[in-house]
Parts: sequence; C-alpha cells; structure tokens
Amino acid sequence: MISAERETTDTTTDMRGGIDLGGTKIQAVVVDAAHDVRGEAKQPTPTAGGPADVAAAIAATLREAADAAGVETSALHGVGVGSPGEIDAASGTVGQARNLPGWEGTFPLADELARQVGAPVRLGNDVQVAIEAEVALGAGREYGSLLGVFWGTGIGGAIVLDRRSWLGRGIAGELGHVVVVQDGRRCPCGRLGCLEAYAGRSSMEARARELVAQGRTTVLFELMEEKQRTRLTSGIWARALKQGDALAHQLVDEAVEAIGTGVASAINLLDVEAVIVGGGLGVRLGEPYRDRIAAAMLPHLFNDDSPPAVHVAGLGDLGGALGAALLVEETA
Ligand SMILES: [Zn+2]
Repeated sequence: MISAERETTDTTTDMRGGIDLGGTKIQAVVVDAAHDVRGEAKQPTPTAGGPADVAAAIAATLREAADAAGVETSALHGVGVGSPGEIDAASGTVGQARNLPGWEGTFPLADELARQVGAPVRLGNDVQVAIEAEVALGAGREYGSLLGVFWGTGIGGAIVLDRRSWLGRGIAGELGHVVVVQDGRRCPCGRLGCLEAYAGRSSMEARARELVAQGRTTVLFELMEEKQRTRLTSGIWARALKQGDALAHQLVDEAVEAIGTGVASAINLLDVEAVIVGGGLGVRLGEPYRDRIAAAMLPHLFNDDSPPAVHVAGLGDLGGALGAALLVEETA
C-alpha cells in the first residue's frame, strides 16, 4: 500500500482514522485519501473496567497511530470505528457488546471518543466494515456476491449481494449463530449448537480449559504465560499448532469442521460467488486453513460440482481498521 505519488500529493489535510475494536485487541490506522496507511498501532483491549476504559484505550491507540503518521488526532478529517455489539450509527451508541468488558447497557462511544480525540467519529458494525473494505480494496473486488467469515474471538459473518451489504432487518449475517449441531454445545449467546460454540476463539479456549481440567496436557497455557497474555490469542494457537500440540490440533480441527458445515449451509441458501475468510485466527492461520475450510465445506454443499471460491481476506489484519476509515469517506 505504498503510493508513488506520496511525495507530490499533499494528502495530509485529508487524513482519516480507522479503528477496529475487537474483543482481544484495538487496531488503529491513519490513512490518507488514497487509503494508504500512514501510521498504525495496536493495543490489547482492556479486560476489566467498562466502556469509558475502552474509549480511553481507543483514544490512546489512535494517538499512537497518528504520531506514527505525523499528525495530531484533532487534525484528522474524521475517525471511523468498527465495533462489536449493537451499533446505532445515527446516535453514535454501542449496546450489548458481549466481548467487551462491563458493556451491558448502551454507551455513547462516538461522542465520548470525539471529545477525547478532537475529531468527528462515526460508528459501524465491525464485521460489516471489514467486509466492505474487502469489497472496496481487498479480496472481494472481483465478485458481485460473497460471504464474509470472520474467525476470531467469536465468528462473524457478512453477506454482500450485487456488491451491496445485505443487512436484513439490521443484523443479517450472524453466521456464528447458525446451528451446526442440534442440541449441541452451549454458545456464548446462551443457545445450543451454534457454530461459534465450536469455532469461536473464546469457546475454543473454554473447551481447552475443560479438557485440561480432565487431565489432558497442552502447551497452549504455557505459551500464554510465556507471552504474558491473559487469554489464548491467535498467535498462541498458531504456535501450538506449529509445535504439534495434539490438543490444539484437535480443537482447531473441530473448529474447521464446524466452519465448513456452517458456511456450506449458508452457501446452499445464498449461492454467492465467493467466501472471504478473515478475522484474527482466519488471517493468522492463512492459506493452509483456507484450503481445509474449503475441503470441510464440500461434503455439505448441495452444488458440489461448482463450489464458491474461498479466499483469505486480502487486507489481512488491517482490514477492519481500513474499513472503519471508509466510514469517514461516506460522510466526506
Ligand atoms: Zn450462539
């Protein structure tokens, strides 16, 4: 994402901020009008406190990215935030963000953050902005219709039909809560047998702890302590797989099977051209697991002669933040 015209075009008056607010980390970028990244930073998402602490951490991460880009946050044309939970873009509030600490009610994130960084803030759904970034700038550019699968703390989904996001009555694309096992494992949403109960990283971690309590051994939690983390990040899962850890392989295999089942069911319904696999784990595990997900879909695809293309998200880990910055574009 290097622009040859960088030196000759003065885009510094038109810099935007983009924030990907995840359950595990906050990723910030500062981009110019050509979507080139001028500065980036990431920090862990606070695990304690409440919405005000998360807002402060977002502001700090954005300041770090703005420093790297050589601008003040108050000079940004605007800041977009891709957030989990129930987003009301018009009022700038986030409610019911289960993966964020102490976020039970509704919080005016846009106003609070705008006050802290001195620039206008616009909110969007985290998964929606990430898929819109892939459609505009990444692996989705050549397709009219696609399904985004975000394999991270939870499992997010997004549907694009005729190059437009399909939102249904507001929450379409909840792929993580497609049922893959009737009366199966308990999902973080409280229901039984959802895809997220088998493949969401927090469910995988809970399952790993259960199996360890039953006497199984694994390097997962040793790696977590070594890295001074409080939870199993995508990097830790990737490292454990590389070390041949049997329990990590078993849980990731189960996750891949569940994703294949859930995604194939969605394809049978929608018949879109492509599947884009993103999210922390999806991007970290990359091409080999993209192939394995495609293989796990096949037995469940009704039209198995002509499976959809399956790609890893082209914008990688920055997709969510780049997509959030596109929210500013809309209002420019
Ligand atoms: Zn669920």
